[in-house]
Amino acid sequence: MKSYRKEFVIHTKTRRDFINITRIVEEAVKESGIKEGLVLCNSMHITSSVFINDDESGLHHDFEVWLEKLAPEKPYEQYRHNGYEDNADAHLKRTIMGREVVVAVTNGKLDLGTWEQIFYGEFDGKRPKRILIKIIGE
Ligand code: ZN
Repeated sequence: MKSYRKEFVIHTKTRRDFINITRIVEEAVKESGIKEGLVLCNSMHITSSVFINDDESGLHHDFEVWLEKLAPEKPYEQYRHNGYEDNADAHLKRTIMGREVVVAVTNGKLDLGTWEQIFYGEFDGKRPKRILIKIIGE
């Protein structure tokens, strides 16, 4: 069995953003030389997510509105976590959107459904954040 590990960094200009990282994960699968196996991709931070969904701007707006209803950023003082930090909402949003995805690798390619794309969801950005890709197989 082979294994391959890669980290990359995303630094958003805004506090919240959704970024399609499918190409980056695809590239890592190519670099790994692994033809049959599994790829894990996860955020290495507790205020951002990696998830799979549709690359459609209306849906991304809907996610933003929905997450703000569930865990509004402000007022900051509504959260016990805030004080030293102001990112309690980002921890909650990350929990809802998930930490990682696992995708099958078949014939050296990501075995995704027709509309499935891999996204990085940033909820406390404006600083560099690390994302891990780990691929195992043969
Ligand atoms: Zn925090």
